[in-house]
Amino acid sequence: MGVVVKNLTKTFQSQKTDFAAVRDVSFEVEEGALVALLGPSGSGKSTILRMIAGLEQPDSGEIFLGGENVTRLATQKRGVGFVFQNYALFKQLTVFQNIAFGLQVQGAPRAEIKGRVSELLELLGLKDLGRRYPHQLSGGQRQRVALARALAPRPKVLLLDEPFGAIDAKIRKELREWLRTLHDEMHVTSLFVTHDQEEALEICDHIYVMNQGVIEQGGTPEEIYKRPATEFVANFVGLMNIHDAVVKDGKLSIGPYSFPGNGGNGLAEGDRIRVFFRPQDIYISGASNAYAMHARIVRRSFLGVSIKLEIEAEHGFRFIAIIPEHVFYNEKLAEGAAISYQIEEFHYVNLRAGKGMKKLVFADYEI
Ligand code: ADP
Ligand code: MG
Repeated sequence: MGVVVKNLTKTFQSQKTDFAAVRDVSFEVEEGALVALLGPSGSGKSTILRMIAGLEQPDSGEIFLGGENVTRLATQKRGVGFVFQNYALFKQLTVFQNIAFGLQVQGAPRAEIKGRVSELLELLGLKDLGRRYPHQLSGGQRQRVALARALAPRPKVLLLDEPFGAIDAKIRKELREWLRTLHDEMHVTSLFVTHDQEEALEICDHIYVMNQGVIEQGGTPEEIYKRPATEFVANFVGLMNIHDAVVKDGKLSIGPYSFPGNGGNGLAEGDRIRVFFRPQDIYISGASNAYAMHARIVRRSFLGVSIKLEIEAEHGFRFIAIIPEHVFYNEKLAEGAAISYQIEEFHYVNLRAGKGMKKLVFADYEI
């Protein structure tokens, strides 16, 4: 069962002013998909989730679950399951009883409850923990029990609000994988709220990026990462190099790169342009003739499987590059080393014309 949200608006009254937490938001979650609402704290993600769950009433707009308009329907009648960061387990019940809870409320037969709970214990790697109490579990195990409890009554839609927020980095990563695996087994339509871009990129089929109560962009993880539609998305999802420049003598110059103002880019003399390029979109070589541009490595830092380089080219053009570790060693790179480089792709926002982001056309650039 899919989710459709149409023109949802929610305003909260504070002492003096009204505050629009969600402004005319529309989006869809296809049946069986795992979709993220990704945005910084305060962007309206939880408010949207709470309206879909029926815990908050929208000022205007409509919510459809499986084609049925549920905007005015009580929470219990919507068939949604939740996992929230602070949605604690029942302390006095065992793991088994916690997971069975929703089915018991529904009055399911005992044998069916036993079968369903056993299946979920197995799926979530909790097989031997059924008799334990929540205080006898680790944080990661508790959140897996919370997932199992939400899924037990076979909800039509699963709503997850920063479910792994309070858990440390390593276990968070494991939990993401559990969620993805579980989703691939059960295909429950799921909406996953997070402020962690890595989490959203890694496990979701589709991402909506939120900012200040509106959706800035919706797309697959690749689309959001490779073709950010706005400056906000470019900055929020992944690392970005940013340089401002003014169109002068018909050209836009970024370090040694020069782009034609007219032609494909349609820039006017005097336009202020903000240019973006990803640290991962840069080729680097220790050989001076491998690429056309030349620079020096100022600093390197180790990021695990990749290496981050601070690079300084002529005329004070500085940027960050991220390269795979093996490239760093194969190319015999080091701090202070001379390199040649090439930036593969630039995007820009015309600060005069508005916030939409476009790809810069290289055309016949000169060095
Ligand atoms: P997010 O989940 O993205 O962090 P929220 O949906 O919780 O954002 O909140 C969006 C905005 O609405 C925030 O500025 C928050 O302070 C405000 N807000 C949320 N709930 C209430 C409420 N019950 N009363 C007043 N303001 C609220
Ligand atoms: Mg929130």
